[in-house]
Amino acid sequence: MVEIRLTNTKTRGKEAFAPIDPQNVRLYMCGPTVYDRAHLGNARPVVVIDVLVALLRHVYGADHVTYVRNFTDVDDKINATALSRQQAGAPGTLEELIRERTQETIGWYHADMDALGAARPDHEPRATDYIAQMIAMIETLIADGHAYARDGHALFRVRSYKDYGKLSGRSVDDMIAGARVEVAPFKEDPMDFVLWKPSDAELPGWDSPWGRGRPGWHIECSAMSYELLGESFDIHAGGIDLQFPHHENEIAQSACAHPHGDFARVWLHNEMLQVEGKKMAKSLGNFFTVRDLLDKRVPGEVIRFVLLSTHYRKPMDWTADKAREAEAVLHKWRGLVAGIDPAPSPAPAVIAALADDLNTAGAIAALHEIAGQGDAALLLASARLLGLLTDELGDWIVAGPDLSALADRMTELRQAAKASKDFSAVDAMKQKLTDAGVEVRMTAAGVELLAGPGFDAGKLERV
Ligand SMILES: [Zn+2]
Repeated sequence: MVEIRLTNTKTRGKEAFAPIDPQNVRLYMCGPTVYDRAHLGNARPVVVIDVLVALLRHVYGADHVTYVRNFTDVDDKINATALSRQQAGAPGTLEELIRERTQETIGWYHADMDALGAARPDHEPRATDYIAQMIAMIETLIADGHAYARDGHALFRVRSYKDYGKLSGRSVDDMIAGARVEVAPFKEDPMDFVLWKPSDAELPGWDSPWGRGRPGWHIECSAMSYELLGESFDIHAGGIDLQFPHHENEIAQSACAHPHGDFARVWLHNEMLQVEGKKMAKSLGNFFTVRDLLDKRVPGEVIRFVLLSTHYRKPMDWTADKAREAEAVLHKWRGLVAGIDPAPSPAPAVIAALADDLNTAGAIAALHEIAGQGDAALLLASARLLGLLTDELGDWIVAGPDLSALADRMTELRQAAKASKDFSAVDAMKQKLTDAGVEVRMTAAGVELLAGPGFDAGKLERV
């Protein structure tokens, strides 16, 4: 069996990975808070962990891996959006507007991550479906002296857990000195963090032993991972920005609520993403979502390739040059493998690179070598282990003809027709386009032309 080695933040070493149960390798990743489109930085861990899951399935068997990624659907930003929609006159209760907003955002998230070729996890629990389990866990923590209730809040007593700070390598006193801890009258100690907080009439809330309220963020992951993966599981993944306080708090809650479990044995953290050498920020004008790139016709496969071209433990720099290079490489490779069946298994060099702490950059280097040798079948089988050269991601390569000039002409005709009330020229053009196998979509935003299955470029000349 292939030995997988992973860098474990908990031990700060690269360790041989030994699952608790090889029949069911269990992995949890902190998922998105669903209030808006995923930005490019959000996509990095999703694509990295997608490759890890593919490697685990390759080694332990497709049916022997359980991958859980949550949706945080209770959050002050979501509430704020729903409230402003309600104030703008949107119909429905606040709870309905929140549900509408999170449903919409989850739909976007799925579409965007699908476009990057990331397989959906086995479970995608939503926090609001696990409120009862969170309340039960908080009750256990209170009963055992690890938490307390005050003024409608439930708080975790950080000093009751001696290993607090171990994951990120800080002492509680250092953290108090260096961190922006919130001092609040209901806290015994400034480091204590919220497990439950009260909700007023303008906020979503659930009944609890501490009054109507809503859970804190950290308790979600502890409760949902316990429900779906048990008190000990193999890997917990997430961005390095979540290490403190989120992951530290998850560990404290889970270790104290389930003292006989290990919670997560391996902690995997990916580094952050920059754009053209700078931190991505709305104020710098270099902030973009996955959808922004897709809309600019950067193919999902190209985004995936660029994200995987840097090792997950290094900061990743997204540049337009990298995207162009990736597009050229993929174009060439797709040409090589066209009409070829994949080899029965991926190249050992590619598996070895991935097994070595998920060295995706090394795996891509190995793919270049295989392509250079002209072994198309092996290239195809190996690239697919990284989720590249798949059928699902191949649409961009056979992208249809550029119909934008025709769309512009039709938009002009339509504008003229609206003024003259004579639509005959628009109708005639539409008919000719339809005859050439072009689907015509007219919306308030403009005219969209799409080459359909019966597209005939020859007939376009008559339009
Ligand atoms: Zn989490």
